[in-house]
Amino acid sequence: MDNEDSFISLYINNFDEKFIERRINECKNVLKNEKMHENFEKSMEMIYEHINKNIKHRAMFASYKNNFFKEYEILPSENLLVVDSSPYIKPMVKMIDEYDNYGLVLVNSHKAKIYIVSAGKIEDEKDVSKTIMGKHKKGGWSQARFQRIRKGAINQFLKETAEDAEKIFLKDKINKIVIAGPGEAKTWFKERLPKDMKSKIADIIDESFHEMEFEIISDAGKAIKKDEEAEKEEIIDALKRELLKNGLAVNGIEEIVKAAEEEKIDILLVGDGMKIAGWKCEKCNVIGIGIKKRCPYCGHETTSVDVVEEVIELAERSNARIEFFNGELKKFGGIAALLRYK
Ligand SMILES: [Zn+2]
Repeated sequence: MDNEDSFISLYINNFDEKFIERRINECKNVLKNEKMHENFEKSMEMIYEHINKNIKHRAMFASYKNNFFKEYEILPSENLLVVDSSPYIKPMVKMIDEYDNYGLVLVNSHKAKIYIVSAGKIEDEKDVSKTIMGKHKKGGWSQARFQRIRKGAINQFLKETAEDAEKIFLKDKINKIVIAGPGEAKTWFKERLPKDMKSKIADIIDESFHEMEFEIISDAGKAIKKDEEAEKEEIIDALKRELLKNGLAVNGIEEIVKAAEEEKIDILLVGDGMKIAGWKCEKCNVIGIGIKKRCPYCGHETTSVDVVEEVIELAERSNARIEFFNGELKKFGGIAALLRYK
């Protein structure tokens, strides 16, 4: 990549041709030279190949020059068309933070459903049910023997369901799980999950198996939200604690940029709508705060950037966790980071 604004990032909430045309004109007026104009037009053509009136909630990133095109199904957001030296990912990262997928297991002693829920909707579903001597022919069995065999069968069923759930949740990289169901089976089920799956349980809730699916999903969603809010509170507490003792946290934007460049960030905390004007030299791979037309190191022309977006990209690349906050970060200047080491 270079300093040129060669990437178009388009977020479509509802397809709005007028909006896109207006943004195209605005951007074209600013693009410096013919080469950039050509790249812009060709990148737009890449986008137009994938666009139609029926499109809702989509993010597209295109750069003809870098032979780059990606599109994603997204959640309702706002219409945006941004031209930058890299894909503009902040809105997507924020969505992922807000609508993390989670796993839901609805289970009783002989039936189970394993769901992946994304943005309040079921993405994937697996039905597991077994006839555990339901319509039993007791025959000559004693009640005690019958009970014993039945218990063994339930045990086996829950064990298999736990294995299925683990497989599905690992494949989908699920970080949070809600277990729901009537009676005791859900607690037995929990006991049969491996340790690292157990640690992902956000809540165990009482639900009848016949409850409407959307009711169960809505209850599970509430449990996940509560769990996430508690987690966010913990993060803020950790930030305060570490800042007080001058420990593994940084608060000023300059320190944060430095920590991001050195891949030291464990959790990046970003205030909603936070933007900081800055510059970037792609040649030296340096980011700075404020306005600088030329790189102080190599003299090359810089690109103006949103430093927050740049820090998010760096943090993403080093696998840091990114959390967005509403108002709680104001007294910390809207951005802060917990570090892996110092
Ligand atoms: Zn430079």
